[in-house]
Amino acid sequence: MMSSSAYSGIGMTSEGTRERLVRRLREKGIRDERVLEAIRRTPRHLFVDEALSSRAYEDTALPIGRGQTISQPYVVAMMTQAVMRDEPLGKVLEIGTGSGYQAAILARLAERVFTTERIGELQRAARQRFHRLGLHNVYTRHADGLEGWPGQAPFDAIVVTAGGRIPDRLLDQLGEGAVLVAPEDAGTFQQLVRVTRTAQGFERDELGAVSFVPLLEGLD
Ligand code: SAH
Repeated sequence: MMSSSAYSGIGMTSEGTRERLVRRLREKGIRDERVLEAIRRTPRHLFVDEALSSRAYEDTALPIGRGQTISQPYVVAMMTQAVMRDEPLGKVLEIGTGSGYQAAILARLAERVFTTERIGELQRAARQRFHRLGLHNVYTRHADGLEGWPGQAPFDAIVVTAGGRIPDRLLDQLGEGAVLVAPEDAGTFQQLVRVTRTAQGFERDELGAVSFVPLLEGLD
C-alpha cells in the first residue's frame, strides 16, 4: 500500500517527470488546458502499486490487480476532454473506478464525481486514495455500474471505463445537453464513442479505436 515515502516525493514523482507526461499528451493532441492542468496536479504514482511507481508517468496502462488496469494517461485525457464544455461540470458519473485515477482527474474538473466499481477490493482501495488525497467530492459505491446511479441522476457527463454495450439505462441518466463517453464493442475492436443527449434525442460521434478491460455484469 502507500507508504509515507510515496508521498514525500522521490525522484520519479518530481514535477519534471509529470511535466514530461503533460508535454507528451500535448504532442499527441490533447489541447484542453484544464485537463492538462488536472493531470499535472494528480500524482498517478499513488494509484499504482509501489513496485510500479517508477513507471507511473509513462503513457501506458498498468496492472492494478484482479486482472484490471489503470488506463493509459492519453486515453484518460482524451475521455476527459470529450466531456468538457464551457460551463463547469456539475455531477459526473464514472463506471469502473479501478484505481481511482480517472475519477481523481474528474474531481478537479467537476463539482461532484460519483463512481462505481464491481470489484469490492478495488473500490475500497480507491476510496482510501480519495480520502488521503483530500478529494472529498468523490463518492464511490461497490455496485454494478450497468445500473448507473439512479438516485443521483441526471448527470452532466457519464464516463464508462470498461468496454461493452452501452446500456439504455445509462443513457436515460444523462441530462439534456449532457454527454456519455464509452468504449463500445465493435466486433474485433472497441470504438470510443461519445453520445450527446439533445432535446430531440441522442447524437453519436466516434473518437477512435481503444482497448479497455470488459464491462461485466454483477458484483465481485
Ligand atoms: N477508471 C479506471 C480504469 C479501471 S479498468 C482507472 O482510472 O483506474 C475498468 C474497471 O471497470 C475495472 O476495475 C473493472 O472491475 C470495472 N468494471 C467492469 N465492469 C463494471 C461494471 N459493470 N460496474 C462497475 N465497474 C465495472
